[in-house]
Amino acid sequence: MALNLFKPLGSLLDFFLPRLCVFCRGAVSEGAAAAVCQACQDQIQWVASPLCLRCGRVFGSKEGADRICGLCQKEPPPFVRARAAVLYDEDGPAASAIKQFKYGRRMDMLPVLQTWLRTPTFLEPAAAVDLLVPVPLHSRRLKERGFNQALLLARAFPDQPLARDALVRVRHTVPQSGLNPKERRENVKRAFAVPRAEQVKGKKIILVDDVYTTGATVKECAKVLMKAGAREVQVLTVARVRYE
Ligand SMILES: [Zn+2]
Ligand SMILES: [Zn+2]
Repeated sequence: MALNLFKPLGSLLDFFLPRLCVFCRGAVSEGAAAAVCQACQDQIQWVASPLCLRCGRVFGSKEGADRICGLCQKEPPPFVRARAAVLYDEDGPAASAIKQFKYGRRMDMLPVLQTWLRTPTFLEPAAAVDLLVPVPLHSRRLKERGFNQALLLARAFPDQPLARDALVRVRHTVPQSGLNPKERRENVKRAFAVPRAEQVKGKKIILVDDVYTTGATVKECAKVLMKAGAREVQVLTVARVRYE
C-alpha cells in the first residue's frame, strides 16, 4: 500500500528524466519496455526452439522440433515443464543483470528482468495456473541478502495469486554454484517443506526462480509440492544455462 504512494512521483520523474540503459548508461528509446538500449537489447540471447518439452533445455543443433531430451527420458522430472526467458551466458547481459540484482542489490535491474518474464509465452501459462510459488531462501540467507529474488521476480505477474510461504527452506544449504550436478542434488535434499498442505492441495502451480542450471533446486521443490498434493507444477525462470 505504502509503495503505491510513491508511484505518481516515480512516473513524474520518468517523464522529466531521460531513461538510461541499466547496462551501458546509454540513452533508451521512448517506446522501450525496459531501461535497456537497442544495442544491449540486441545482445540478449532469447530461449528459442528446438528445446526439451519437459526441462526446457535448448538443443545445440537448430535442427528438428521440440522433443524430450535424453536426460528427461531417463529420469522424468517432477514438474510438467520448465521454461526460461533468456539464455544465461557467463559474460552475457542476463548473467550480468541477475548477478548485479542478486549480489549487488541493483534494484533497477528488477523491472528489466520482470519485463523478460512478461512476454506472451509466459503471461498465458501464468494466467492459467492457481498459484505462483517462489523458490524460498533460508531465513539466514534472506537476512544476509535482504530480499528473496525469486519472490520479487514472481511479482512480474501482479494479477496472479502469489504464495510466498507455501514452500519454505527448512535447512540452510551452501550455494549451488561451484558444486557438480550430484553435489547439487545432495545439497538441496530435504531442504524444503510445505508448512500447510491445504495451501497447495489440488492446485496448478508455477514455481518461480532466477536461474535454471541443473534444475536440482526446482526439482526438489516440485517433488515436495507434489508430495503435499499439488495437482501440477511448472517451473519458470528468467534465465537458463545453455548446456548442462
Ligand atoms: Zn545499453
Ligand atoms: Zn529435458
